[in-house]
Amino acid sequence: MKFFSLKKNTCEDCKQDLGSYAELIAHARHAHKRTIVKCTGCGKEFIHEKDRLHHAREEHEQKVKSRYR
Ligand SMILES: [Zn+2]
Ligand SMILES: [Zn+2]
Repeated sequence: MKFFSLKKNTCEDCKQDLGSYAELIAHARHAHKRTIVKCTGCGKEFIHEKDRLHHAREEHEQKVKSRYR
């Protein structure tokens, strides 16, 4: 099964491997005082704004997408 599990949850600040993306978020918030961004559509949390935007585009933009491509 190839899934998202292949993606490593490595902290880019201290190169520590975390068990899950949720743990990485918690780590980044507490160890490095990172500002976590939250998806307004479903409440999922992300470390980078670009990750949130990518997620929102993938998960929540079905309505808009069909028109402009
Ligand atoms: Zn770290
Ligand atoms: Zn979302």
